[in-house]
Amino acid sequence: MGAIAAALQACATRIETACAASGRDAHCARLLAVSKTFPANAIREAHAAGQLAFGESYVQEALAKLAVLADLPLEWHFIGPLQSNKSRAVAEHFAWVHSLETERIARRLSEQRPPHLPALNVCIQVNVSGEASKHGVAPDQAVRMARTVAAMPGLRVRGFMTIPEATPDLAVQRARFRQLAGLYDQARALGLPLDTLSMGMSADLEAAILEGATMVRVGTAIFGARDLGKERAT
Ligand SMILES: *Cc1c(COP(=O)(O)O)cnc(C)c1O
Repeated sequence: MGAIAAALQACATRIETACAASGRDAHCARLLAVSKTFPANAIREAHAAGQLAFGESYVQEALAKLAVLADLPLEWHFIGPLQSNKSRAVAEHFAWVHSLETERIARRLSEQRPPHLPALNVCIQVNVSGEASKHGVAPDQAVRMARTVAAMPGLRVRGFMTIPEATPDLAVQRARFRQLAGLYDQARALGLPLDTLSMGMSADLEAAILEGATMVRVGTAIFGARDLGKERAT
């Protein structure tokens, strides 16, 4: 078995164990393989091992890989900061956006979504840790934003996403994820048809699943350490 296939299997085991520990079904959380900075060949290898959903953070880099991998039935998720001049490419080429943080970009994506494609699935990014990340809406804006986006015809609002500050403290990790889960419950109680809590990465997916994650975004634990020089400032 190749290194990527073995890593995917190890990830699947981590997810199943965490799902069991949280008292949920063994497949309670979907795995999104975060392939940013890794070459198309690595994605091909992951696909050969059964992985279909991939996350990318940089539009130009992603488009190049999408073109090379057009022969595969992959599901592409955009997870990085999105500038308005790149929204059309994302609306045309991706199935999901996890990093929606302004109404203006939401409106553009909705208008730019090609009519022959299903609505673009979106999660609203929420900044639960305040100081650590400047991306995402404030927690007290998240539910209102979800309602606004729910009315946009080109979009299908699926839930919330967060990237909390990195910390080895399991209690802090869980508190951040619990806060996002609380917003999700609140929005669902208002009747919004949400089904996705996108939270948890290589280092904290267990904490996220214990707090209700339905999708974890994992890069390093599948593909290895990223070349920081390739992680452009955005
Ligand atoms: C890079 C990235 C990930 C993956 O992080 P790892 O720690 O490598 O698993 C997940 N989510 C987002 C939004 C990212 O940008």
